[in-house]
Amino acid sequence: MLSEIKNLAEAFAPRLLEIRRHIHAHPELSGQEYQTAAYVAGVLSSCGISIREGVGKTGVIGELAGKGADPRTLAIRTDMDALPIEELTELEFASRKPGIMHACGHDVHATIGLGTAMILSQLSEPLPGNTRFLFQPAEEIASGAQWMVKDGAMEGVDAVYGVHVYPSVQARHIGVRYGALTSAADDIEIIIRGESGHGARPHQAIDSIWIAAQIITSLQQAISRTQNPLHPIVLTFGKIEGGTAPNIIADRVRMVGTVRSLHPESHASLPQWIENIATHICATYGAKCEVNYRRGVPSVQNDPTLTQILETASIEAWGNEYVKILPEPSLGAEDFSVYLDRAPGCMFRLGVGHQDRPNYPLHHPKFEIDESAIVTGVVTLAYTACKYWQR
Ligand SMILES: [Zn+2]
Ligand SMILES: [Zn+2]
Repeated sequence: MLSEIKNLAEAFAPRLLEIRRHIHAHPELSGQEYQTAAYVAGVLSSCGISIREGVGKTGVIGELAGKGADPRTLAIRTDMDALPIEELTELEFASRKPGIMHACGHDVHATIGLGTAMILSQLSEPLPGNTRFLFQPAEEIASGAQWMVKDGAMEGVDAVYGVHVYPSVQARHIGVRYGALTSAADDIEIIIRGESGHGARPHQAIDSIWIAAQIITSLQQAISRTQNPLHPIVLTFGKIEGGTAPNIIADRVRMVGTVRSLHPESHASLPQWIENIATHICATYGAKCEVNYRRGVPSVQNDPTLTQILETASIEAWGNEYVKILPEPSLGAEDFSVYLDRAPGCMFRLGVGHQDRPNYPLHHPKFEIDESAIVTGVVTLAYTACKYWQR
């Protein structure tokens, strides 16, 4: 099975390069992946895979029927959207759209999803159950997975695998992590309403800027004193606004931020915890407080059994020295976690770093990859899928 997969991947390699470069040159923003979706659907159809278009707005689902002996369905999820970044790579297939760039490798992910579909549909011995390929839009705005799930993408799915490229891991290497892979990411808005007055007579006013400072400081200190130190939380206010002049006490401050957490327990407790601290501080000093907490995406928690299957498949395919157990999760967010509410899953990191030159991070205008990683990703996913059915 493994040698058949590797042979197919080698045979498809030039075509996969063509696909990746085409998608890279024609990036589309989140929720606007119309051409990419049509292109993906075309490739899937040419492999004899039945497709459903317009799933979750601009998503595509490909369904490869198994020979029917196993009632389970395995999903393989990749994403397709690009970012509002002006590309500065000078690659010959660089973005042809000003101000839009595949700087997070979702062009590579979509190509790997297609390559995996091409291989699994060509195997001499068909797989026993169904494989569903999810090509998701709008990952960068943490919405596409929800749109897809709402449109039934996870109905009947028993397990789901996903992949993300990682420039700080060298190409040909696979990064595996048990448990938490990425963080939960929520948005917070706090509005403080005090009372305006003369800057020289603070006792006749309610200074909302000073109260905002108390809240920010208290929240940061409270993380260290009231939250479990083994469950990391990062709270960043990225924007704060209020006030009109140096000598007028501000009657209103609005601050917005992001809240990252790794442990489901802390994640669940955060809205109430923040609201308690903010409203009590405001009440103490006579201000009114409004806290708006918006749930973003949960943390990606990799399922132990599915991670084990992926790790074993990767070691058999590439050898121990190419498979790294990642020591730490990331406090970045990934909406792959939304699928994990419906079925267990596992996302791995695919090394795309060059050996001989500097590697720019994800979301950088010069981000680019060692393209040999595409075959590595395709073989890893296709062989992992085969091992899943043997379980
Ligand atoms: Zn990204
Ligand atoms: Zn990404």
